[in-house]
Amino acid sequence: MEKLIQLKEFSYLLKVNRNTIVDRWIETQDTQNIFLTHQLILNTEQKKIFYEFFDCIIASMQWEIDLSNCPIKDKFLQILTKASFSTNDFFTLFTSLKNSINSFFQKEGILSFALLNDIEKNFLNIIKELYIAYEQINEFKSLPKDDNTNLLNQYKKAVDLSNIVSKTNPKGIITYVNDKFCEVSGYRRDELIGKPHNIVRHPMMSSNVFQELWSTIKNKNPWSGLITNLRKDGRTYVVYSTIIPILDIDGDITEFIAIRNDVTEFEQAKEQLSTLNKAMKHKVDELYSITQTLEQQASIDVLTGVFNRMKFEEFFDLELQKAKMQRTSLSIILLDIDDFKNINDNFGHHIGDNILRLITKLISENIRSTDTLSRWGGEEFVILLPGTDLERAKFVANNIKKIICEHKFDNIEGKVTCSFGVATCNSDDDKESLFKRVDTILYRAKNSGKNVVIAEDDFYAI
Ligand code: GH3
Ligand code: MG
Ligand code: MG
Repeated sequence: MEKLIQLKEFSYLLKVNRNTIVDRWIETQDTQNIFLTHQLILNTEQKKIFYEFFDCIIASMQWEIDLSNCPIKDKFLQILTKASFSTNDFFTLFTSLKNSINSFFQKEGILSFALLNDIEKNFLNIIKELYIAYEQINEFKSLPKDDNTNLLNQYKKAVDLSNIVSKTNPKGIITYVNDKFCEVSGYRRDELIGKPHNIVRHPMMSSNVFQELWSTIKNKNPWSGLITNLRKDGRTYVVYSTIIPILDIDGDITEFIAIRNDVTEFEQAKEQLSTLNKAMKHKVDELYSITQTLEQQASIDVLTGVFNRMKFEEFFDLELQKAKMQRTSLSIILLDIDDFKNINDNFGHHIGDNILRLITKLISENIRSTDTLSRWGGEEFVILLPGTDLERAKFVANNIKKIICEHKFDNIEGKVTCSFGVATCNSDDDKESLFKRVDTILYRAKNSGKNVVIAEDDFYAI
């Protein structure tokens, strides 16, 4: 027969011809020699175990199952252990099986070179895996305790106890899961083996992550990262995964091993913390803006938007200290709207309020940014002028007087004027003494016909 077959068909033919192949295997000269040495004559029950175990080998050659999950494997190995098979016997027995399979098919001439190569590789892996299991059953009494294999087994146990472990074939079909995997995913082992690994994939996971993952491991590099998975019951779990490609002697990928830690609780706590942080930040912002509003309410006059008397006094104290230390001049202008009561009476309080706002605006536009305007109370304002001597302050006051007097206010007839008192601090002054002086000067301004600026040098000259 010239027709070449594929692995799937090959496995099918193995299944169909199972008994014939196993019988041939048992009857080969090599197998018979070992059996004879160990006085092993298979009874019907044991023969059945050989047949069933061969089914597992076929499945595992096709990556359908991982041999470690083969239920009959241990019983099969126990037959060999009981008969005290040596390492050599073990390998001879399996070489004999391989030869039986090859000879069965080669006689038919239907195996391609590539398939033979594949069978060879798979077979080697299977024998390796079986040998480890065989060693475990024998407990390796003959080897010292610190033997590498023993140590490896201990590591495996430790990893299995603390991590979620799975293996897949190069196509991502699950071939092995440890108990922890089943526990965390909620699936039974038989529900996972032979299924694509994306059985636990969460629909919310971005496909970019998996694309990056696959391209990394297919390039034979390990990949690590956070993955959100879906349990069988629909709940979510988060794992930190490390996936390692396992290569054969030719450098081809034979399988992937994934080791994960369940970090669901940690991720949940992180999320809660971040939500709390956000809420707290929001509250702090809220508090900050309330504090700012309160502070402003305490320092700003609501009607005019300039500082109130309390805030002015704070500024004044600071500027007075600075002026004394730096020996610079500090002047103040106190001004009072003339006959404001009449304006209210004639045009209404609403118009009066507007005039207060407009006068504030006119003054603010005509002083320096370093000067401070405040509402002293009612229709009285005070301007603090640091670094300004009496002459200069008088000039500022006259300028403001002129601007207000010449301003045409809407909705009222006639002019609005103000009277001004101007004073400069001397070295003995404190807040009380200075304000007492400037108040007296303003009183004089009112009495001398209003719409006038009187500075303290004029006052004493009079
Ligand atoms: P003088 O030229 O002597 O200063 O006379 P005046 O009428 O301006 O002074 P007086 O102290 O007799 O009256 C001040 C008026 O200012 C009385 C009060 O109703 C008014 N006033 C004080 N605060 C406000 C305010 O916020 N809005 C308005 N519309 N009027 C105010
Ligand atoms: Mg007034
Ligand atoms: Mg007044």
